[in-house]
Amino acid sequence: MSDWERSSTARVLPPARPRKLAKVPFVELADGRLQGVVSSGSDIGRVYVSSVAAGTYTFACSTNNNRPCGGARGMFCNHILALVNEAVLQYGAERVSRYLRVDTTDGEQSAQAIATAMSSARPQQGDTSAAAPVFSQFLRQLAYLELAPTTAPLPEMQWFPPTRAVV
Ligand SMILES: [Zn+2]
Repeated sequence: MSDWERSSTARVLPPARPRKLAKVPFVELADGRLQGVVSSGSDIGRVYVSSVAAGTYTFACSTNNNRPCGGARGMFCNHILALVNEAVLQYGAERVSRYLRVDTTDGEQSAQAIATAMSSARPQQGDTSAAAPVFSQFLRQLAYLELAPTTAPLPEMQWFPPTRAVV
C-alpha cells in the first residue's frame, strides 16, 4: 500500500475494471444522477459536463463554459454514452443499472444494454443546472492530486470526527 492509502481513513475502492482517465476524467453516481466530465474529442481545452437522472433518465450535457452540447438534442450525445461506458468500468454494470433504475430487457448487463434501455424510454432533455456543482466537484478532486502524499492532517478535513474517540 502507498502512503496515501495507508493514511486514508476512507476505503479506497479499486475500479471494477481499469479506466482510461483521459477520455472521462471524472464519473460518479451521486445526487440521484450518473454524472461526470467528458473530454472533448477535438479540443484539448474543452470538456463536457454530462448527466443522466436515475429513474427518468432526464439528461443534460454542456461545456465547462456552459454552452449547450450540439449532440444532445433530443437524444443522448456521445459524451453521455462515454459516461455510461466509463461508469460501467468504474462501478460494474449491475451497480450502474441498479442506481439508474434501468430494466434491461433480457437482463443483459452491459453499458450498451443500459444506454439502449434508457434511450428507448425517450427521456427528456433537462436543464444544465447540475453542471456547475459537478464541475466544481471535479476540480476539487483534481486539487487533491496536487497535494504531496502526507500523513499530516489536512486542515479542511478537520471537521470530520476522529476515527478513534479520545478518552
Ligand atoms: Zn454532449
